[in-house]
Amino acid sequence: MSYEKLEMLYEGKAKQVYSTADPNLIIIYYKDDATAFNAVKRGTIEDKGSLNNEITALIYEYLMAQGIETHFVKKLNDREQLCKKVSIVPLEVVTRNILAGSTARILGVEEGTQPPNIIYELCYKKDALGDPLINEHHAVALGAATYDEIKYIFSVTEKINTLLKDLFIKEDIILVDFKIEFGKDSTGKIILADEITPDTCRLWDKHTLKKLDKDRFRRDLGDVREAYVEILQRLKKTN
Ligand code: UDP
Repeated sequence: MSYEKLEMLYEGKAKQVYSTADPNLIIIYYKDDATAFNAVKRGTIEDKGSLNNEITALIYEYLMAQGIETHFVKKLNDREQLCKKVSIVPLEVVTRNILAGSTARILGVEEGTQPPNIIYELCYKKDALGDPLINEHHAVALGAATYDEIKYIFSVTEKINTLLKDLFIKEDIILVDFKIEFGKDSTGKIILADEITPDTCRLWDKHTLKKLDKDRFRRDLGDVREAYVEILQRLKKTN
C-alpha cells in the first residue's frame, strides 16, 4: 500500500506532520531548518532533513528490535516516514550521562564532567515559557501526565539510554545526553515518539571528543553537515 500526505496537521521547527488516508497513521516530513535557543538562532543545514530521517529510522528500528514500543512504522522516502498517530505527552525527557551545555554551566562544572549517576530531567513542552525544567510533581499539577505514567516513562527512558549508549559506543561515539518524547496511541498506550537524531542528542567522538551534533550549529563550530553525515555513516556500519 502506498501512503500519501493529505492535510498538514502541524509544522514544527524541524518537521511537518501530515494526515494520511488512515486516521491512525501520519507522515512526518523532515526539513533542513535548524533552530536553537528556543528559536532565537535560526538557519538551515543542507540535507539535514534527509540525514535525520535516515538516522532516526535506523535508531528506531534498532530500539524496536530490542523491544521498545514506538510510533515508527517505516521510512517512506528520503524525507518522509510513516508513523502511528499519537497525542504527544507535553514533556521532554532529558537523560544526561555526562554533564554538558547549560547544565555544566548551571552546576558550575566543566563540560565533559562524568557524574557518578545518570541524571534524568523533565521539561514542560511550552514554547511560550521556553520549555522550563520541571519536576514530576509540577508535571502532575499541570495535567501533563500521572505519577504512574511518569514512572513508566522514566523506566522506558532508562532502557532506551542503555540501548543507545551500547549502539553508539560500538561506533566510538559517546552518548553525552539526549532528549526524547512520548505519545499516547489510539489505545492510550504510552510509546516513544518524535525523533532521535544529532538535533536531539549530544554525540562526541570517543577518541577526539569532537562534537558530532547540533552543538556545531549552536556554537558556530563549522562542519555541521559533515558531523551529521559522520553519525549516519558510523550507524550504517553497525546496522
Ligand atoms: N534538547 C533537545 N531539544 C530541546 C532541548 C534540548 O533536543 O528543546 C537536547 C539537546 O540536543 C541535548 C539535550 O537535549 O542533547 C540536553 O540539552 P540541554 O538542556 O543541555 O541544552 P542546552 O541548554 O545546553 O543547549
